[in-house]
Amino acid sequence: MNTEILTTTVKKARSSLNILPVEEWSVFKKRPLIIAGPCSAESEEQVMTTAAALVASGRVDIFRAGIWKPRTRPGQFEGIGSPGLKWLKRVREEYGLPVAVEVATEKHVYEALKHGIDAVWIGARTSVNPFALQEIASALKDADVMVFIKNPVNPDLELWIGAIERISRAGITRLAAVHRGFSTWEKCSFRNQPRWQIAVELRQRIPGIGMLCDPSHMGGDREFIGDLSQKAMDLNYDGLMIETHIDPPNALSDRKQQLTPVELMNVLDSLILRSPTSDDPEYLETIEDLRSQIDVYDNLLLDILESRMQVAETIGRFKKEHSITILQSSRWKEVKDNAVDKGVRKGLTPEFIHNILEAIHQESITHQMKVMKEA
Ligand code: PEP
Ligand code: MN
Repeated sequence: MNTEILTTTVKKARSSLNILPVEEWSVFKKRPLIIAGPCSAESEEQVMTTAAALVASGRVDIFRAGIWKPRTRPGQFEGIGSPGLKWLKRVREEYGLPVAVEVATEKHVYEALKHGIDAVWIGARTSVNPFALQEIASALKDADVMVFIKNPVNPDLELWIGAIERISRAGITRLAAVHRGFSTWEKCSFRNQPRWQIAVELRQRIPGIGMLCDPSHMGGDREFIGDLSQKAMDLNYDGLMIETHIDPPNALSDRKQQLTPVELMNVLDSLILRSPTSDDPEYLETIEDLRSQIDVYDNLLLDILESRMQVAETIGRFKKEHSITILQSSRWKEVKDNAVDKGVRKGLTPEFIHNILEAIHQESITHQMKVMKEA
């Protein structure tokens, strides 16, 4: 079998998951689907007053509240546990709003199902773990619930896809992904690095999978929520999961990133929704022209990279002749600092220049290593 056929077969197998598009779910009224509610359920009053404010807005489709909280360090508020399920049941019965909780173990799933919870989400610290995922999938077998799968904490697309496959194989069809960003050691203005291309790639690999954005955990601060939500809309995401608390300054978890119900409405009111495409001939002609300009620049970039690698190889040969090491840290630091300065003056972000140069440097080392190994 040639590789082309193999790739197509693999892609086909992946897209053959039986997933119902988010637009066809009964909770979906219009784009974007909105899931809102506190990071954690803290008291019956806090849950009910937050839900009342959200339901009054008429803009929220699913109410969320974590009752088992995966905290990074011990000694913090770890959630109210199963008693919180009764409060969520009240939200559902009194306000008719579907409710969602996070599940991380089979016990959580059984408890949630026993209380008639409508939706569950699998958190980023759980979706990294195939054992946990399989346990959750088995407990969810053929259950009539919506399942949202957050991206794993590390930027591993295969792991995210694997988590989705496990839940799908358990017979869950109302299944969607939630992009909440990836943790990083490097300094980043957001709590979690978005790496939007990973979510875009996921939608290519599993056509039809719903994609929501969680700007609360991505940004980690309420000030970023509007911009991140807009970005998600511009990338044609289906919905948003936004932490909303009746009194954020006194929240027991994720205080900085929670919005009040009024602030949530302001964010939603400010969103500009654009259509993914248009039939307007003038639009189509212009976009085609602009895209061909992009193609020209992409090709130029490739030509430039090719030339750069050829020079790197020449340097590699020269170093080999003179028995010099490949990595020259001081020279590399100088190249990077100069490029960052210059790039910033051209309106590029330092992170972007840093990432692109790191990638180019890695590739240069690979080319030089190849040369060094030549007989
Ligand atoms: C949450 O949604 O409350 C949560 C813990 O999210 P994440 O898994 O994205 O950190
Ligand atoms: Mn949270």
